[in-house]
Amino acid sequence: MTGTQERPMTYAKMKGLVTFLSGLVKGKKVGFSDFFHKLVKSQQFCKCGDTQRHLQRQSKPRRQKEVKTKSSSGNTDNLQMKPSDFEYLKLIGTGTFGKVLLARHRKQGSHYAVKVLQKQMIIKRKEQRNVMVERSVLLKGLKHPFLVGLHFAFQTPDMLYFVLDYINGGEIFYHLQREGSFPEPRATFYAAEMASALGYLHSLDIVYRDLKPENILLDSEGHVMLTDFGLCKEGVAIGGIMHTFCGTPEYLAPEVLQGHPYSPAVDWWGLGVVLFEMLCGLPPFHSPNKEKMFENILHAPLQLSSRFSEAARSLLEGLLERDPSRRLGQSRDIEELQEHPIFSSINWDDLVARKIQPTFIPKVAGPCDISYIDPEFTLQPVPASVGGRQRPVYASEAFPGFSFSNPEEYFAAKQPS
Ligand code: ATP
Ligand code: MG
Repeated sequence: MTGTQERPMTYAKMKGLVTFLSGLVKGKKVGFSDFFHKLVKSQQFCKCGDTQRHLQRQSKPRRQKEVKTKSSSGNTDNLQMKPSDFEYLKLIGTGTFGKVLLARHRKQGSHYAVKVLQKQMIIKRKEQRNVMVERSVLLKGLKHPFLVGLHFAFQTPDMLYFVLDYINGGEIFYHLQREGSFPEPRATFYAAEMASALGYLHSLDIVYRDLKPENILLDSEGHVMLTDFGLCKEGVAIGGIMHTFCGTPEYLAPEVLQGHPYSPAVDWWGLGVVLFEMLCGLPPFHSPNKEKMFENILHAPLQLSSRFSEAARSLLEGLLERDPSRRLGQSRDIEELQEHPIFSSINWDDLVARKIQPTFIPKVAGPCDISYIDPEFTLQPVPASVGGRQRPVYASEAFPGFSFSNPEEYFAAKQPS
């Protein structure tokens, strides 16, 4: 996100999410996090893909069982990170509840993006559940070449901390703003990488829901990285439905806007909006007037420039189909997209193996380069409150079981570099 544009997600969160099932979280998440604490204690967990897949398949019944059993945070307390383990170097983004900072682990020396959320703000807006979802989604063992990875999560009495990979090639939005639009091959390449990440999430019954340019980053090699799992919705099988109103007006699928049940196909609509925006510089139903924009999303004909290739037009028509049951991706998810002529030259195995060379490679000098981050953020002082010497808390009324460390990484981080 950049400060030069209004941040419509705030609207979505305020308007939609305050009504969002906030009472459901407490008991359920305690069990899940205990389960996770056990998982992360396994040395194999983060290394072995097969084990991970197995555990992911196992996670639902185990979770239910855990809910019934116990709720203490177990003996992972001694794996707790704390804010002062990091040196906070720069502000790199702000969000609804807090800030994202570039930070250096004092002992390990590596750089991370640390997302710091204020508990009070979250509680005020009754969004505990979303934050726990963000954490549990990140911890689900999600490992995909185009999804930002989480290393640690911990809390103090006032704040929640997510320690993520620092992705330093800038938001797609940043590059779009400067370049106006992207040539079709570049936009198609990004769309394919995003589709691959979305297909992966859908295969785990997760709907991303918040696809928009400021949540799409480029890494130092020019590959796409999706961040911000705050709005992800777990537990939605393909063809399943959700009744939660959530999202960003500009990128909202019509069924969401109308309060109808919706499915993972909302992400394919979102991909259509982002692809259109990458090709044109503006989303397809844009209007400065919010009501007109809603009206456009629901009823305005899709205007496709004659500059677009036939394949691009057909893909956009398929993704931006108002009737979700006829939308591309509705029945066989990403497979339907992969078969589309626009992607005919893409070898999807190579794509996921990051073997397809991006046409644009960000010029970054090193892992802590901030040249692609909007100076709007980096020129602001680092808030003193984030690195304070507050004691870490191991359990909390509002966020039980939030904290997380991968033991291997934790002990590695404790070694002097
Ligand atoms: P939420 O939806 O939970 O309120 P948010 O939208 O406020 O979150 P994020 O999108 O996670 O917060 O982060 C805000 C901004 O910080 C992003 O738009 C991006 O510019 C930057 N950012 C987030 N995560 C990273 C990361 N891992 N590496 C680099 N920059 C990041
Ligand atoms: Mg965001």
